[in-house]
Amino acid sequence: MTLQEIEQLVFAEIIRVTTAKELEEVQHTYLGRKGHLTAILRGLSTLSLEEKRTIGEQANALRVRIETALKEQFGKLEGKGEEKFFDITFPGKKVVTGHLNPLTLILREIEDIFISFGFSVVEGPEVETEFNNFDALNIPANHPAREMWDTFWLKPENQKLLLRTHTSPVQIRYMMTHEPPFRIIVPGTTYRYEATDARHEMQFTQVEGLVVGKDVTLANFKAVIEAFFIRLFAQKVEIRLRPGYFPFVEPGVEVDATCPRCKKKGCELCKFSGWLELGGAGMVHPNVFDAVKYNPKEVQGFAFGIGAERFAMIKYGIPDIRLFRSGDLRFIRQF
Ligand SMILES: [Zn+2]
Repeated sequence: MTLQEIEQLVFAEIIRVTTAKELEEVQHTYLGRKGHLTAILRGLSTLSLEEKRTIGEQANALRVRIETALKEQFGKLEGKGEEKFFDITFPGKKVVTGHLNPLTLILREIEDIFISFGFSVVEGPEVETEFNNFDALNIPANHPAREMWDTFWLKPENQKLLLRTHTSPVQIRYMMTHEPPFRIIVPGTTYRYEATDARHEMQFTQVEGLVVGKDVTLANFKAVIEAFFIRLFAQKVEIRLRPGYFPFVEPGVEVDATCPRCKKKGCELCKFSGWLELGGAGMVHPNVFDAVKYNPKEVQGFAFGIGAERFAMIKYGIPDIRLFRSGDLRFIRQF
């Protein structure tokens, strides 16, 4: 046997044996008086001075490694079947568990609240058609409102596919395949082609809401969103609706709530105004109902969109939106 052959076989054999007796046989086969490695060491005297030095060194190094492996395996086999001493007073090792991202926590909480209001949770694809993301939502090509959404277009450009800029296209998908009345929320990842800073990310999470039925009004929306904020912040909040423009609703509103941190007194979070901007909403535009073949004279609906990161930042006091997807474990471990 050559040194290489010994090396290939011996360690596998040492690990494979299950009793100390078998291990002794392995030891004998390689390191015994007539063992394979012993034979090589003995044959050194017939070699040239140069070969003696190189092969001798390698053979001795291998012998040390085999002896170490044997010793370790003898140790393992010896303990087998016997009770080992177990010190019950020794302090235990703390088990390290994983942590949920605060975004996951807030999404679960938001979903639970809306489910308790009778909403269903619906999801849709992140790659969307231009029709679902824009045209069907009353934002035709060349309409100046498109500038509100900096869009990632996918190649080839003639396919008109994009990374959805909001969760609203799921409204279109849902209405095209369902009949009213219904109440849904749509949590999901959305994308904007824009520079990032402490309050803006290219990738962020929206929760879209849509309620369609007979005699649905903006007053219904105000009641629902107020009940939602009260549950989420676990305190009384006031709601304020201001006129706002979104092409797919008419009228459209910006939704403000009293600051849950300072309770309207003014603090850094609300920039000392006492109010926080928490989303956009409005009554579904008749053109949107036309696009999904609903009769706007028979049904009405309200829609709203809120940002999940924003709520997590308020609720957990997170200063920078980029932390959510930073992969920084020091951040995650705080939750
Ligand atoms: Zn405040």
